Amino acid sequence: MGLGNRLWRGHLAPHAIIAGGIFITLVMISLCATVLYDARLDAMDRARDTSRNLALIAQRDIERNFELCALSLQAVVDGMRDPAVLALPPRLRRQVLFDRAATAKYLGSMLVLDASGNIVVDSAGDVPRQGNFSDRKYFIVQRDSPNAGLYISDPFSSRLRNGSPSIALSRRLSHPDGSFAGIVLIAMNLEYFHTLFAGLSLGPHGAVSLIGRNGIMIMRQPYDVRTIGRDIGKAATFRRFRTAAEGSFSETASIDGVRRLYYFRNFPDLPLIIMVAEAEQDIYAGWRRRATTIGSLMIAFALAFVALAFLLGAQLRRRMRAESELELLARTDGLTGLNNRRTLGEILDQEWRRARRTHSMFSLLFVDIDRFKAYNDTYGHQAGDDALAAVARCIGNNIRRPADSAARYGGEEFVVVLPDTPPAGAALIAEQIRAAISELAIEHAGSEYGRVTASIGAASWAPEQDSDVTAVIKATDEALYNAKATGRNKVSPFWQDKKG
Ligand code: GH3
Ligand code: MG
Ligand code: MG
Repeated sequence: MGLGNRLWRGHLAPHAIIAGGIFITLVMISLCATVLYDARLDAMDRARDTSRNLALIAQRDIERNFELCALSLQAVVDGMRDPAVLALPPRLRRQVLFDRAATAKYLGSMLVLDASGNIVVDSAGDVPRQGNFSDRKYFIVQRDSPNAGLYISDPFSSRLRNGSPSIALSRRLSHPDGSFAGIVLIAMNLEYFHTLFAGLSLGPHGAVSLIGRNGIMIMRQPYDVRTIGRDIGKAATFRRFRTAAEGSFSETASIDGVRRLYYFRNFPDLPLIIMVAEAEQDIYAGWRRRATTIGSLMIAFALAFVALAFLLGAQLRRRMRAESELELLARTDGLTGLNNRRTLGEILDQEWRRARRTHSMFSLLFVDIDRFKAYNDTYGHQAGDDALAAVARCIGNNIRRPADSAARYGGEEFVVVLPDTPPAGAALIAEQIRAAISELAIEHAGSEYGRVTASIGAASWAPEQDSDVTAVIKATDEALYNAKATGRNKVSPFWQDKKG
């Protein structure tokens, strides 16, 4: 019996199937988890790229429009310095000073204010509208600092256009001696930013903001008129926007408790910051849907797989049990439960080879019930079977060493194999068996002893002999014959000298 076979018998195989099934399941689950985790990271990376692209697109659009405004402003500044232009009649002068940019969709009026803030030239008409803007911050800044350059104002409500929220781009006009002569300004409706941002798709909880570098909110999407012009300069997020030219970070907004990925970008040439924020719940929405589907399928699959492994293991265990029962049936004698003749052949073969290999003695007993034909004739075949079974049990009980074995040789004859046993030991065991059978005290009227008895022949093989196993069997048989011939109910050993 090989090691593999023994492991098989030890029911290792069903356990191996279950353990293997669980192991494979765990590997599959961790693979799936890894893939899902990677997909989550990918979703975040994609969101960062998207935010960056959106910010860049919006920035380019704003920069181009501001550049056009700046050029138009510069044209007016240059024209206002030219006496020939100033000498033109109002209609012509207006055409020279203001190019078509002044009529662009989101641009309000383009105005020239004098040193006291009154409108002197108006792009909207030859007769300037009435208005004084000396209280506006952009006017004060340009008046007080000759080097303000192109100044972008904070949002304000336009006085000329029914209070619509606007910002103004302005430039200073100076007299030849450098003193303040007024300003040129172009008002830009915030509707421009609103429309620009509304076109960006950022998910239901996303936000995009344009903020002045001073912390004043210019436009925010989702749009709320109250957020326009608000100073967020002290907010922690805004302070982070000022730490680098661009960057991204995740943070939970204190206002709504929503965790967002913030991407910010400082305009290189304008005092503006654009911020794109996408809510993590939106970023992961698609991922979460997929993860839920794949994850639950995976768990169901894993459970099914483990269940299958258990089922297979149980099935295999049942089959192995049935197989070993069948094998036992094939190896044993149905009436007595002892080994049958076929098994005896295997045992003899095996023990014989072992005895030769280990140079040990090897003994054999032949047990034959006395006058059993007569017993059958007297008590019937059924009683005979019962007596046979009792004798077999008796033989089995009297061989105690694990290596010893008993077999039913046929009819009412039994063979006991005693490995590693010298003749004296064999004779001792034989005598014990004989006495025990006799002590069963099964009535047998046809016997000279009045009870069921057995005769036993014993023979041994020593390593120095060159005879084989059939010779030992023959010798045992001869010894039994001798026991029968010399009175029955006795043990008869085989003598070497008798053979010769
Ligand atoms: P001896 O003392 O010389 O051994 O006489 P014996 O009658 O026992 O010898 P023999 O071998 O002539 O007879 C054996 C008898 O054992 C034959 C048969 O009636 C009986 N026998 C053999 N097998 C069975 C069995 O399975 N069941 C029963 N009830 N009897 C059996
Ligand atoms: Mg017989
Ligand atoms: Mg007999």
